[in-house]
Amino acid sequence: MRSPALPADLAADLTSAPSLAELQACLALAEPSAGTHAAEAEAAARRAIELAAPRAEARLEHGRAWVWRCVHLLRLGRNEELLQASRQALPLVQAPALRAERRELLRITALAGSELGDFETALMAAQELVRCSASEPGDGAALLAAISLGVCFERMGDSWQALRILEQSLSDHRAAAGETHSPDTVLPLLMTNNGICAIALGIVHRLLELDASDDLRDVLQRARHAAEQAQALLEHHPDANYAVAVPGNLGEVLLYQGELARAAPLLQHAHAQAVVQGLRAYEWRIRATLGAWQVAAGEPGAAREAMRALLAEAGGEAPPLTVERAHTVAYRACRALGLFEEALRHFEAAERLERHRTIAQLRAQSQLFVTRSEAQQAQWQAEQARREAQQHRERAAEATVHAERDPLTGLGNRRFLHLRCAELLPSAEHLGRPVALAQLDLDHFKTVNDRHGHGVGDKVLVAVAQLLRENMRTDDVLVRHGGEEFVVVLPGLTLAAAAEVCERLRLRLARYPWLSACGTTVPVTVSIGLAAAPPYQLETLLQRADEALYRAKGQGRNLLVLAP
Ligand code: GH3
Ligand code: MG
Ligand code: MG
Repeated sequence: MRSPALPADLAADLTSAPSLAELQACLALAEPSAGTHAAEAEAAARRAIELAAPRAEARLEHGRAWVWRCVHLLRLGRNEELLQASRQALPLVQAPALRAERRELLRITALAGSELGDFETALMAAQELVRCSASEPGDGAALLAAISLGVCFERMGDSWQALRILEQSLSDHRAAAGETHSPDTVLPLLMTNNGICAIALGIVHRLLELDASDDLRDVLQRARHAAEQAQALLEHHPDANYAVAVPGNLGEVLLYQGELARAAPLLQHAHAQAVVQGLRAYEWRIRATLGAWQVAAGEPGAAREAMRALLAEAGGEAPPLTVERAHTVAYRACRALGLFEEALRHFEAAERLERHRTIAQLRAQSQLFVTRSEAQQAQWQAEQARREAQQHRERAAEATVHAERDPLTGLGNRRFLHLRCAELLPSAEHLGRPVALAQLDLDHFKTVNDRHGHGVGDKVLVAVAQLLRENMRTDDVLVRHGGEEFVVVLPGLTLAAAAEVCERLRLRLARYPWLSACGTTVPVTVSIGLAAAPPYQLETLLQRADEALYRAKGQGRNLLVLAP
């Protein structure tokens, strides 16, 4: 971001107008890379706003001060204030001279909105950033847009998609710019790598304590790679804020990879930096991680104390995700100490927070109907003409959204399947590309309803939809085909390759902790029938997959059967 330069006539006026000298001093303090303690910097920005507001000639300073105030509010974890401030700031940063500031404001608005579960605001900001990056390319603008979209997706519960968006944006960037980094793109690259690491860590938290060690290893590896890249970039571009985030994330990755001795100094360094700079949101988050380190290092007593202190200090103020993590760490610590009642209280607190998050995510997903393909198109097809065509299509899609979505799971329905396949199958046939189609039917699902009621049955269906969604690629089509039946279309996969995917899905469901996630003691498993083109006809594929499914049921269920 640009350093504050007063217009010449203003500067000349300084001696006669002490308030202008004060404005300049406040701006110098508030500059985000100045390293001022965040609370002081926020106060300085507020004062600068007061001083600049009445002066028409300080219009740019006024806009800039608002954006910087927002940056500090984010650093302080005061996200609700940030969103209010951002609404006031946006109209003040429309001048071309404030292009960088406007982007920064949109980026942090998307971040704070996502953090608060206000996805409407977050997505609006992210999409505006996508529009900016299309009309004003360069300076890593596409990376910034991708980060913002990625954060929205991750907070809306689609972490895998978020990860793909960011990894894709990095490889696009590399394809266009090679390995050499212009000074303008170092920071966006640093942010993207750090974002990949943070999102991957979010996935790690969901995989911990599940029987998913292959996935966990893979995601940790991706997180580590990104964190190491970010660490290297940080050397070219020292940045006070990322000097906390990057080692904090790398330390956390190392912790979950079991490299405790290497993790400790990074986490301690990040924590000390966060304290010095007043970055409270980071500080709390890193304290939760340090607690997890203590549990892993066999110091549950210390972890329990540390989490109690953290929750007492930050419980009402910290981002809910941090509070949830603190409770989870406390739960593990108490469990290790044999304090089961206390462990249960923490477990329940973490559960409640997670449930709130999941509900907000599901609501956001079905209300906003941002599908994978739309987001990617918005992001990567940056030319004006294509974008306009896309917007038309989006409007048309919005009009039919209700007709094509299943309200319970947010997945597409039969109609959606038919519409997608009407495009997809002829094009695959034309290209000679393989396509596979699977029918999935939950086993003895009636028993879940009979034993636990429809509410639990619904919860299982929503969770199954989410598990399936997390394992799909961007081009795959996933729909709820009927009550407890799902259909997956896998373009580009041969029967053998699709069989591997389906087998993984089957195992993923069978091993999922259904009791703790949904409260069902009935085992939830799925039978799958799989067929592959040719013929490239939906009805035939459905029928062949259905016959295979019927055989899977007959052969005992929880099975994958391939159509001949
Ligand atoms: P099978 O292994 O043979 O597939 O046994 P099943 O019990 O899964 O199959 P069946 O077709 O007998 O029963 C399907 C059940 O799915 C019956 C119906 O009540 C339940 N179901 C369908 N839609 C919903 C829904 O939206 N919510 C809930 N909770 N249950 C549903
Ligand atoms: Mg059925
Ligand atoms: Mg069934």
